[in-house]
Amino acid sequence: MFVPLMYHLVDARIDHPMSVPEDSFRRQLDWLGDNGIPVLTPDRALAAAEPEHTRQAPSPGVLLTFDDGYLNTVTTVRPLLDERGLSAVMAVCGSYLDPATLPDHIPHASQEFASAGDVRDWLAAGHAIAGHSYTHPRLTGLPREELEAEIDLDLRAIESATGHRPATFCYPFGKSDQAVREVVGRFYRHAFVTDGGSWPHPAHPLAMRRLQVRPEWDVDAFGTEVVRALAACVEPEDANRSTNVRSS
Ligand SMILES: [Zn+2]
Repeated sequence: MFVPLMYHLVDARIDHPMSVPEDSFRRQLDWLGDNGIPVLTPDRALAAAEPEHTRQAPSPGVLLTFDDGYLNTVTTVRPLLDERGLSAVMAVCGSYLDPATLPDHIPHASQEFASAGDVRDWLAAGHAIAGHSYTHPRLTGLPREELEAEIDLDLRAIESATGHRPATFCYPFGKSDQAVREVVGRFYRHAFVTDGGSWPHPAHPLAMRRLQVRPEWDVDAFGTEVVRALAACVEPEDANRSTNVRSS
């Protein structure tokens, strides 16, 4: 199984709990490489979370995810990934892809978003995208029609802008409940939460937990958190087996 790492902005100039300095991000990528922890391609990682998946789990690793479709993800993050041959998932809000449809009030630390062309380039470079709703509302508590429209319009906007239909969703604000997951599950194969959920597993593909990388972490704290999460996300059978080995 794998640990999805959740990032938003990678920008030292933005003092915000969702913005990690570039230097820290660079050191985190180096730390993963130095410690032999694979950064899995989105295809490889997410195949392990498919409902029909059985035993071909990839070797433990991490998946890099970047929410909100910031311009920063393509201008700052992408070069750092590309020079290392790594790929990542960017979660995109359909209405942010075109200045004409950008909502008046957007709840983000940066107001600069990747354009449709930027997202096409991101995909052409081997990266992946996820849906993130059309206008980034809290989906829990929305009337069902509005909820369905947020998911459907997002997919239509992404598809018409990029020619690509994502199979993965990231709940805006990380929030979901059973009603939201039921609707999202009609459009998507798997989805990431922010708080709660469970480490990726075929048994619960619509509530996959992520590890939020925090700006205040130094590289040692990052390493400690990643190692702890990797230990927690091994499949139950594997955990039982290693417990048996230790106690025998
Ligand atoms: Zn978001």
